[in-house]
Amino acid sequence: MLLKSATDRLKNAVRTIPDFPEPGILFRDISPILTDGQLFRLSSTILSERYQRKPVDAVVAIDARGFIFGSTLAYILGVGLVLVRKKGKLPFSTIESSYRLEYGTNTLQMHTDAIRPGQRVVVVDDVLATGGTLVATCDMVRRLGGEVLEVAVLIELEALGGRNRVAPFPVFSVIQY
Ligand code: AMP
Repeated sequence: MLLKSATDRLKNAVRTIPDFPEPGILFRDISPILTDGQLFRLSSTILSERYQRKPVDAVVAIDARGFIFGSTLAYILGVGLVLVRKKGKLPFSTIESSYRLEYGTNTLQMHTDAIRPGQRVVVVDDVLATGGTLVATCDMVRRLGGEVLEVAVLIELEALGGRNRVAPFPVFSVIQY
């Protein structure tokens, strides 16, 4: 069970910006957590304590803010870090997965050799909103023969139902709105 005081400290630091990047979106800005060394470390500690005794072979982190929390988690666990990037950024051979946005589509890519068959991974991002990003990522992990142990996010926007979209993969979130 997470200590409520610890998660409250993180939640109190999240800055909410209305109408960014477009009207109607309440943007949950994690920057104040990152600029506070104690809070940044606390976020990494919460995630690493959850996975320290689990059979994690690699951490899969999503472009761009997922890289921050994914890399600290991989570093503490002493496992590899796999980058999921927006289309066109990765130099080697890639697989890709697209998902629908409110307007248009988005495509994510991974290197084809980033995951070996049978590897068990935790997928990390900063925010779970509708779940499209995480579903596309889990789909690529599966196609490469990996197993998603869990999806971990700092912030879950519960009203958007992302958790149900990501199912059957379990979701762990530190802060909920
Ligand atoms: P989704 O695919 O809808 O779950 O969106 C998740 C991605 O979009 C994450 O990588 C987040 O960084 C970003 N995102 C979506 N909604 C928000 C929000 N309200 N505040 C901050 N980031 C968001």
